[in-house]
This record gives sequence, structure tokens and C-alpha cells, in this order.
Amino acid sequence: MKDTEEEILALGIESTAHTFGVSVASSKRGILTDSKRTYVPQLGKGIHPREAAQHHASVVAEVLEEALTLEGERIEKIDAVGFSRGPGLGPCLRTGATVARTIAKYRSLPLIPIHHAIGHIEIAARTSKLEDPLVILVSGGHTCITAFSGGKWRIFGETEDITLGNLLDMFAREIGLSSPGGPAIEELAKKGQRFVNLPYIQKGNDVSYSGLLTAAKRTINKEAIEDICYSIQEVAFSALVEASERTLSHTEKKEVLLVGGVAANRRLREMLAKMSEEHGASFSSASDRYSGDCGAQISWTTILAYRSGVAIGYEESQVIPKWRIDDVPIPWR
Ligand code: ATP
Repeated sequence: MKDTEEEILALGIESTAHTFGVSVASSKRGILTDSKRTYVPQLGKGIHPREAAQHHASVVAEVLEEALTLEGERIEKIDAVGFSRGPGLGPCLRTGATVARTIAKYRSLPLIPIHHAIGHIEIAARTSKLEDPLVILVSGGHTCITAFSGGKWRIFGETEDITLGNLLDMFAREIGLSSPGGPAIEELAKKGQRFVNLPYIQKGNDVSYSGLLTAAKRTINKEAIEDICYSIQEVAFSALVEASERTLSHTEKKEVLLVGGVAANRRLREMLAKMSEEHGASFSSASDRYSGDCGAQISWTTILAYRSGVAIGYEESQVIPKWRIDDVPIPWR
């Protein structure tokens, strides 16, 4: 391994769900390149895992080419290859892992297994400069409130059923919008003028969104779509903010970091920022550029993991579709 003072270049490969992304990160210069292509499901449908994996396989060459040449960085200079080992859709994960293993083996480079959600946290933490935040991770695959303690990210609260991203995407599909529907719901919600009563379910530090989805679907054709979208956001986000507030009080953290695809939502950012301010905590959010799935979350976390000696043998590098965040030891924090 290189001396910690020397520049390290890591290649990161992301392929957990809809996005195939490749990025090159430098330990000294940050994210150098970040290329991606996204699979879009048929209108009205969710992600079909095999179709998404086929999409990823079909774009590997062009995405790799872009990521490795954009800033003149060549594969010969790479020190380590990281990949999303999980959690995610098996066929998609296997496509990315195969590409990573092939490059690592071909160039005799260390292979670094990265937990996708930890990638979301580290890429956001890098730009936010927060050191020990309470993290609110919200996406299509996750809805949890987590904080670092005893060498691992511990879960303090989570959804009891569907994720916040699922709620928005499933409702969007119901009203004929393509997936992912979060951005379109946010736009419609801005035009909402009337609050539609929907079930607010918040238990302890957990939230539950499936009852809210069912109730919201029942209001279609009875209420204005803009009002329903506005109300879904208000109810779903309030429940999450309440759970986060309880955890913030309990953990006595002084920083709050919002990460994952739903972190792009301005209303959610605004609500969490206000709650943090009321508790004297600093608030930051993943940038728009890196809130959703991307190679950069993997390349940057690969640098951190590689510097701490994390690596895996090619033969034992099977993907883990249901990898829990609190199962991953973090030697770099
Ligand atoms: P994970 O990263 O946990 O595997 P994922 O594969 O769904 O989940 P992300 O790109 O992190 O990937 O998150 C996508 C989710 O973010 C989708 O549910 C999408 O609707 C949601 N999303 C994106 N932009 C917005 C927005 N502006 N408002 C609300 N939700 C959004």
C-alpha cells in the first residue's frame, strides 16, 4: 500500500439499482470524474432487476471510458478498485462486481468492498465537513436514522415498512408519472394549496409509510393532485423529522446530515434545518450532484477504506444484496 502522504487514486463502481456509475477519486484532489447512465423503467412500472442489469452491462464500456479519460486520468494510475457490494438488487450488484473484479484482477489491484449506504454518507460528509453527525438516510432503498458509535453506524430509527423513496415513487406511478417520481411530486407539491388529511404514523423513533400510501391513493380523483402531493410530503416528512428530533435529543449529537436520493428535496431540507436549528445543531445535506446514486460515493469511500487496509480477495467478493449498515466495521472513523 502507498504511504498515506502520497496521492491515492481510486476507481469506484456503483450498480446497486437503477444507476451504473463509475468515478475516479483522489485522496488529495477529491472527485476527479463521475460518469453514469440510469435505467428508466417502463411507464407505470418499478425497476425490473434483470432488465436493469442488462442496461448496466450495455453501458459499461462507455461509462468506464468516460470516467477514465475525462480529466486525463488513465487506468494505469489507479491504486485500488472499489465496488458497491450491497445492499441492492442481486443482478445489478453482480454486474458491477464482475466489472470491478475484472479490472482489479487484470491490473493486480486491491479490490475494496463498499457498503452503498456508507458511500451515501461519506460523499455527503466530505463536502459538509461535519465530523460526527446524526445521519438521516432517505432513498428508494433506505429510510433510517443512524449515528456512528463503537466502530459502526448504528440504527436509531427506521421505517417499519416501505421507504420514503418507495412512497413517493409508488404514488407517482399511481398517477401516471415515471419512476423515480420524487422530483415530479416535489414540483406538484409546490403548487398545492389545501391540506388533505392523511394518516400520520410515527412510533418511537420509527416511521411507517404504507398506510399513508394506501390512504393517498384513495384520494386520487377526489382531491387535486397538487394538494395530495403537498399533503403526502408534509405528513411523511413531518413523521421523519419528529423521529429525527427524538434521536437528536437522545444522542445529544450537535450535527445533522441528510443523505440519499430524497435529500434533493428542498422541503425536507428546510424542515430538518429548522428542527436542527431549534436544537442548536448544525445542519447539512448531500449536494444535488451527489445525493442520488453515483460512482463518486463509491470512489471516495474506497479511498477511505483502502487507506485503512480494507480489501477483499477476488474469490470471496460475492455481493451481499441484504447487507445491513450496522454489520459493517468502519476502521477509518
Ligand atoms: P439506495 O441509494 O438506498 O440504494 P435508490 O437506489 O433508490 O436507493 P437513490 O438515487 O439514492 O437510489 O434515491 C432515489 C430516490 O430518491 C427515488 O425514490 C427518488 O424518487 C428520490 N428522489 C430523487 N429526487 C427527489 C426529490 N427532489 N424529492 C423527493 N425524492 C427524490
